[in-house]
Amino acid sequence: MIDFSPTAEQKRFVELAREFSANEIRPVALEYDADPVYPEEILKKAHELGFLYTNIPESYGGSGMDHVTHYMVTEALNYDCCAIGQMIGISHLATAPILLSGTEEQKKKFLGEMTRGHKSACFCLTEPEAGSDAAAMKTRAEKKGDKYILNGNKCYITNGRDADLLCVFASTDPEKGTKGISCFAVPRDTPGIKTGRIEDKMGHRALFVAELFFEDVELTEENLIGKEDQGFKLAMMALDRGRVNITAICTAISQRALDEAAKWANERVQFGQTIGSFQGIHFMLSDMYQQIIACRALYLQLGWMLDQQRRCTTEAASAKCFASDAAMKTTTDAVQILGGSGYMKGSVAEKLMRDAKLTQIFEGTNQINRIVSGRGVLSGKNLLF
Ligand SMILES: Cc1cc2nc3c(=O)[nH]c(=O)nc-3n(C[C@H](O)[C@H](O)[C@H](O)COP(=O)(O)OP(=O)(O)OC[C@H]3O[C@@H](n4cnc5c(N)ncnc54)[C@H](O)[C@@H]3O)c2cc1C
Repeated sequence: MIDFSPTAEQKRFVELAREFSANEIRPVALEYDADPVYPEEILKKAHELGFLYTNIPESYGGSGMDHVTHYMVTEALNYDCCAIGQMIGISHLATAPILLSGTEEQKKKFLGEMTRGHKSACFCLTEPEAGSDAAAMKTRAEKKGDKYILNGNKCYITNGRDADLLCVFASTDPEKGTKGISCFAVPRDTPGIKTGRIEDKMGHRALFVAELFFEDVELTEENLIGKEDQGFKLAMMALDRGRVNITAICTAISQRALDEAAKWANERVQFGQTIGSFQGIHFMLSDMYQQIIACRALYLQLGWMLDQQRRCTTEAASAKCFASDAAMKTTTDAVQILGGSGYMKGSVAEKLMRDAKLTQIFEGTNQINRIVSGRGVLSGKNLLF
């Protein structure tokens, strides 16, 4: 019933992505981390190979990969630097609402323009006073005649400075809380959009995170994705996909941490033998590997569920918690195995540990994802088969 063998096409894509990561990302990963650089040249090359819009159907200019293939490629592209890897896959989350609920015209217009012009998107949900409590958002899209007037601001928006297409969640009926939020596709050149502060971050340094301000931005029905007041549900469905994506990214982070630790364990000599000959190190490497194979199985299984068009909210929230906690543990253990050299700036293990921390925070903190997952368990919506 279950076949885990990759297809010839999946193998080809993954091999190409691994090669791309090793040749294009690895040589600059530490440099871009130390002094953040927008990876423009890498993005251009990734576009030529079809890696920028993996989830977008070919009819709208993407590579049309199914979810399983997209997540396999995501793991490969995030192995050498998850900040650059995520810049390559940045439009995945922000285009999900359009793919899920956009009309044919909207898909052609917004996705077509993006893929033709080698442009990118961003997902604008978080606000200064609405982080975990996204429903407390103050950004308003007030209906005036046949227009919506957008006012408010968003913070911590990944790719907020550079995105050409903004997927913005705004309240259309503040009385109704989550049931009064709508989703809008907003082209960057719409008058009234300003970029604020660019954040200086602990990890994911080559990923640019910005504040955004909206001042009397005029939108129409053409910008409204899905029905009015149904944006929150769309955001959650997009986040299901995003959380599986994070599971694949965490798999890459953990795999790299294990590879660095195993290499060091085979080389470093103490007490007259390599440290890899000590059982205490075997236990640590084995614990790391256990987490990795579980994470990989999770994203493959959830990718399969999404390909079957099944909701996987409970499972995606659970997988995101598991994989990000695993990434934090495996990267901390990699630093431990590398000892003092792992703690020094310029060590890959040190970067991985800083990068891993974000995965426990964005797309819902792990506390919030545990609430989502726990509620799903209580409602009985946790049956896979
Ligand atoms: C680098 C980075 C990139 C990001 N990119 C994006 C993006 O592209 N788009 C976007 O919209 N957002 C983005 N975010 C925002 C991110 O999703 C939020 O930071 C996250 O949802 C948490 O919100 P907060 O930071 O306001 O923390 P808060 O909500 O203030 O939470 C603070 C702490 O309280 C805990 N907490 C809150 N409520 C509860 C509860 N009910 N039960 C238990 N604990 C609770 C949280 O788990 C956390 O530990 C990004 C954030 C970062 C750091």
